[in-house]
Amino acid sequence: MKIKSIESYILSDKLKESFYFSQWEYSERRICIVKVTSDTGHVGWGEGYGPAGVIQAGIEHLTQFIVGMNPLETETIWSMMYRRTLDYARRGVLVSAISAIDVALWDLKGKIMQQPVHLLLGGKKRDFITPYATGLYYTHCDDLCGKLVEEAKQYVALGYKAMKMKVGLGIDVDIEYVKSVREAIGPDVQLMIDANHAYNLREAVQLSRAVEQYNIGWFEEPISPEYYDQYHELRTKTTIPISGGECEYLRFGFQTLLQSKSVDIIQPDICATGGLTEAKRIAALASVYGVELVPHTWGTGIAISAALHFVGNLDILPGRLRTPNAFIEYDRTENGLREELTTTDMVAVNGEIKLSDKPGLGFEFNEDILHKYTLKE
Ligand code: MG
Repeated sequence: MKIKSIESYILSDKLKESFYFSQWEYSERRICIVKVTSDTGHVGWGEGYGPAGVIQAGIEHLTQFIVGMNPLETETIWSMMYRRTLDYARRGVLVSAISAIDVALWDLKGKIMQQPVHLLLGGKKRDFITPYATGLYYTHCDDLCGKLVEEAKQYVALGYKAMKMKVGLGIDVDIEYVKSVREAIGPDVQLMIDANHAYNLREAVQLSRAVEQYNIGWFEEPISPEYYDQYHELRTKTTIPISGGECEYLRFGFQTLLQSKSVDIIQPDICATGGLTEAKRIAALASVYGVELVPHTWGTGIAISAALHFVGNLDILPGRLRTPNAFIEYDRTENGLREELTTTDMVAVNGEIKLSDKPGLGFEFNEDILHKYTLKE
C-alpha cells in the first residue's frame, strides 16, 4: 500500500462581521487543508494551524519525500518529515505542515482499516467530551459589554457548561467585562479568560488578583510565551490556574514549558505542534509532570475532529471513580469553513459531544464546498 498523492488547498471565508482580540482583527478565515490519497483509493484530510500560504509551501516541500511510503506507517512518515525539516525549522510553521499531513494520515489510516482514530490511538477512555465555547471576542459596537453579556447568555441557553472570553484590552476594561459576564452566566458555568499574551508580568498579576473573586477556570497566555520564568512567578502570585502552549512546538518545546513549571494546563494545537503522532508523545510527557492537557483548537471540522479523537483517548490523571470533564476548545465565532466543509454527528448537545465510532476522524468531507472556498487569486 502506498501514498499516491498529496494535494493542498488554501480556503478563504470573508466574514460578514469582523471581530478582534488583543492582537489583531479578523475579517477573513483562511486555512490550508491537505488531502492525502492512497493507491487503494482511500482519502484522508488534515489541516495546518498558522499562515496558510507558508504551510502550503511546507506541504509541497514535504510531498516529494513521502509519496510512495506506506500510509499506515504514521510514525515512520512522521520521522521522515521531521528529519527533512529539522535543520531549518525546529519550531514554527513547517511543523504545522508536518501536522497537517500527519492528521490526514491518521484519518486515512482509519478509513483504510475501517476503524475510528480514537481506537487506533489506543482506545476510547470516555464516550463524551465537554466542549467549552470559545467566543466573546470584541466587535465594533456602541455597547460592547452588553453584547458580550448577551453572547454569554446564549451559550448558557444552548447548554454549554463552560466558556472562554477574551481579555487584554486594558485591565480596568477587562475587570468590568469579566464581572459582567460572570454575573450574567451565574456561578455554575465555568468561565476562562485568555489574554493572548497582551500583558507584562506586573499587569498579569494585577488582573489575576482582581478577577480571582469571579471564579476563573484558567488564565490563558497572560504574558508572552517567551517568558517561561515569568509564567512560573505569576503562578506563585495568583490562585487562578495558568495555561499556555498554543505557540509551542513538538515535545521538545513542551519539555521547556514543563521543566520551568510555567503552567498548570498545557494547550498544544494538534494541527501545529506535530500532529496526532506528536500530540500523543506530548500527552505522555505532561503525565510525567502531572500537568493537565486541554488542546487548543482553531479551524475547520478537521481540526476539531482530530482534537475530539485525541481527547477521547487522553488519560486524565490521577485516575479516580469520578473523573473531571475532559474539555475540548469549541470555537463559536463566525466561520463558514468550519460549518460547511465537513458533516459530522460529533456536535454539542446539552453541553456534551458524543465521540463518533465511524472510520477515520468521523466526518464526511464535502468536496463541492471545497471549491466554493478555495482561494483564487
Ligand atoms: Mg488562546
